[in-house]
Amino acid sequence: MTTRLLIVGPQGSGKGTQGVRIAEAFGIPVVSTGDIFRANIAGGTELGKKVQAITDNGDLVPDEVTSEIVRDRLAQDDAAGGFLLDGYPRNRAQVAHLDEFLAGRGEALDAVILLDVPREESISRIVQRASEQGRTDDTEEAVARRLAIYESETAPIVDTYAERGIVDRIDGVGSLDEITARVFAALEARGLVRAAA
Ligand code: AMP
Repeated sequence: MTTRLLIVGPQGSGKGTQGVRIAEAFGIPVVSTGDIFRANIAGGTELGKKVQAITDNGDLVPDEVTSEIVRDRLAQDDAAGGFLLDGYPRNRAQVAHLDEFLAGRGEALDAVILLDVPREESISRIVQRASEQGRTDDTEEAVARRLAIYESETAPIVDTYAERGIVDRIDGVGSLDEITARVFAALEARGLVRAAA
């Protein structure tokens, strides 16, 4: 069975951590644009050089660049049986790119997991992550910018997916295990069954 998922939430919502757990349970790869950009920056590639200043500022990398990376990644063999997207699509143009790409393969997303976390909670988690991981884009200005972009550009894409009836809004406050269990229950209710379940 193939499972095509998207996880959405403000930074600090825990979507990275939950995404890895969910993908593992379903036996599908995580496709995280943020991770792909960070790996390229760390590796000093052409792409990395192109996007470093943009990501450090908390701005969005141009849609064409990002969408091409995702298309290439989803065309790899391990994504044939499904995938979990994290961090893409992030605005309406990217939703249109993804729709077109998936439709060309006769595919569509099965579910969009929205992790709901109050603003204060996500900010305190980011501050903690900044001190633990030392991400160069976790400065106060970049964090504020990413949150503003999330609210103005990314939150509205949830409405687009909600109109299709595929959004599962999950309470993102609680222990890691509690939140994972809520996601599994919501996906199960859609008939999306884990590999190990
Ligand atoms: P993230 O780890 O998802 O917060 O991504 C880190 C940074 O990578 C973002 O602040 C953006 O600069 C860039 N980025 C990640 N995903 C996208 C996307 N879908 N569109 C544009 N830029 C992105």
